[in-house]
Amino acid sequence: MSELRTYTGVHRPTWIEVDLKAIQANIQNEQQLLPAGTEIFAVVKANAYGHGILEVAKAAEQAGATGFCVAILDEALYLREAGFTCPILVLGAIFKADAALAAEQDISITVYNKEFFEGLSLPDKPLKLHVKVDTGMGRLGFQTEKEVLLAVEQIAADPRLQFEGIYTHFATADQKETSYFEKQLQKFRSVLLQLDQKPRYVHAANSATALLHVQADFNMIRLGIAMYGLTPSVEIEDSLPYELKPALSLYTEIAQVKKLLPGDHVSYGATYEAKQEEWVATLPIGYADGLLRRFSGYQVLVNGHPAEIIGRVCMDQIIVRLNDYYPVGTVVTIIGQSGSLKRTATDAAEYLGTINYEITCAFSTRVPRKYLD
Ligand SMILES: *Cc1c(COP(=O)(O)O)cnc(C)c1O
Repeated sequence: MSELRTYTGVHRPTWIEVDLKAIQANIQNEQQLLPAGTEIFAVVKANAYGHGILEVAKAAEQAGATGFCVAILDEALYLREAGFTCPILVLGAIFKADAALAAEQDISITVYNKEFFEGLSLPDKPLKLHVKVDTGMGRLGFQTEKEVLLAVEQIAADPRLQFEGIYTHFATADQKETSYFEKQLQKFRSVLLQLDQKPRYVHAANSATALLHVQADFNMIRLGIAMYGLTPSVEIEDSLPYELKPALSLYTEIAQVKKLLPGDHVSYGATYEAKQEEWVATLPIGYADGLLRRFSGYQVLVNGHPAEIIGRVCMDQIIVRLNDYYPVGTVVTIIGQSGSLKRTATDAAEYLGTINYEITCAFSTRVPRKYLD
């Protein structure tokens, strides 16, 4: 398979800043909460939720994470190629033909269906497997105890396979109402009771579970969104056991400032019309950078003041209304702190009617990531 080569916009004043110390503080705060001996695997799929996989992985490892979770095999291979030697678990589907590649690179993969065991071709190195139990998420995973036990037997019967882990995933851990969560937990515990021997890793917790249901951490947690300092949901934001420190900020700079007169229009469709004289600025960021078109109307921050995105968001540019004149080159905060005001990915998500996960994942590789450590 050929490697995709791409570029980053380092010659344009639009950038993401990632505070690696914040990521480390979030991991260490979580560690304090967990019973001794519980391991943290840092979830760094999707380019570490847009934060940059290699830098985040390094910072997480330094802070005490003992392994990584990724969604696809390519992400695991990318980490191996960069020199990471700790356990890496692929949570999602892979081509069965690539199981050999996973074994060669000592990458653990998830087994969730019986078809996996048919005609598997493997090298001499053992393939480490985590058996996924579907206790109610309805996504990947064996649905019944019988199927789980059969899979465990099949692993035991094949010397090339190693039963390294068993896990499940909760559908409602980020909600205050816990009855569905309890049902899933109960189902997982009942499957575990059927095992003659538990594997090295038994895990169920995503961030929400690790924050609110420490009893369900087993011996490893899969820490994603909380590690980036973002709440798993707005609903539980006021019940969090420690303060999450957001790691990602997004900045741009004013490229042009102009004064509009009453009746002047702005952007495609000329949908915005100035009602009075006003200062507006053109900013070099648009939907191709992940600032989605629906951000029209959202307020970014200029010099500690809100500045509304007026008219339509373009592919590479937006226009904002200023509270006053500011010179070209003035820094604009889209996510982050400006004066006494703050914008988080969660604020942006609420405006768009989505979740913070989708906001940070959407920032494209065109936006360079700068790291503070
Ligand atoms: C993405 C993912 C996680 C991490 O979830 P967060 O809510 O970001 O902590 C954990 N487990 C599985 C199976 C996942 O797909």
